[in-house]
Amino acid sequence: MDIRDLQRDNIKNLSPYSTARDEFKGEASIFLDANENSFGSPLPANYNRYPDPLQLDLKDAISKIKGVPIENTFLGNGSDEAIDLLIRAFCNPGKDNIIILPPTYGMYEVSANINDVEVKKVNLLPNYQLDLERISETINSNTKIIFICSPNNPTGNSLIRSDIETILANFKGLVVIDEAYINFARQKSFIQELTEYANLVVLQTFSKAWGLAAIRLGMAFSSTPVIDILNKVKPPYNINQPTQDLALAALENIQQVNEWIRITVIERERLSNALARIEVVKKIYPSDANFILVEIEDAQNLYYKLLEQGIVVRDRSKVTLCENCLRITVGTTEENNELLKAISILTEQTV
Ligand SMILES: *Cc1c(COP(=O)(O)O)cnc(C)c1O
Repeated sequence: MDIRDLQRDNIKNLSPYSTARDEFKGEASIFLDANENSFGSPLPANYNRYPDPLQLDLKDAISKIKGVPIENTFLGNGSDEAIDLLIRAFCNPGKDNIIILPPTYGMYEVSANINDVEVKKVNLLPNYQLDLERISETINSNTKIIFICSPNNPTGNSLIRSDIETILANFKGLVVIDEAYINFARQKSFIQELTEYANLVVLQTFSKAWGLAAIRLGMAFSSTPVIDILNKVKPPYNINQPTQDLALAALENIQQVNEWIRITVIERERLSNALARIEVVKKIYPSDANFILVEIEDAQNLYYKLLEQGIVVRDRSKVTLCENCLRITVGTTEENNELLKAISILTEQTV
């Protein structure tokens, strides 16, 4: 299988925009090639210059942590940009389709809808694992991408590794594994499998464990043909200079991030155990992420009562296979205590 044959013809034939900084690389002291403000910017940092279109310094630093070569790394304005670009580059509107596995992250479907690409849905099994038989029946010759979220949002569980491998080995399109929550998981990343499967794309993000949702930075790791295609279709300066600078500084602080991950996992287990002792809580789903899916006797009612106390959780009670469920992010120890206290008081009032 040649991955390049999967892309749309218009993308294959596209001449990408060539920036001033693409055309000149090297040492110079006077830059009069990009119509920038040569006097400076009205800020302390040198934001008058366009950023590196391929973010090589940042990718180099990420590569040292992830062990993935730069040529197998794409950076997006959030992973959401990578999701959109994958659909845009590989799926012909009105003709091709993607497969998603509900209940799952909402952006795959929204991006496909924006791009007028058909979405085929194969629900997870009642245990929130992959329904391999139905996935295989649903794939047709126009299926270009299968989106697999593991650990899955909103259910919190990791998908069984050998099931994902079955899809990777048999599906002739792209298999996108969204690992937004991998830092909290017992299961290891699929990054190690990149050399095995040319059709594998692993998505990770700085928005969750890294604590940088505001700077909008996501990563896609894949074979070089896929990365080359993403680089060809992306907006030339998709990662701005402040984001590149801040991410580089954050990567120096990995110990802090690892400490927060450690505490979050401990808090996740403590919160799960404490919630399980509350009368109206019917079920706690085991989580490999930084949130817990919880089935409640009357989820919507509790959702609004918590809101009145200034505590906002995510109401997932109308979502396929998540009837009467709330998705609760694991907060700080103090926040989790406040939540537990509020739920106990509120539910005592209802009995
Ligand atoms: C939060 C989340 C993301 C992150 O998206 P960004 O655009 O990088 O902030 C991606 N996938 C899933 C499943 C998520 O829950």
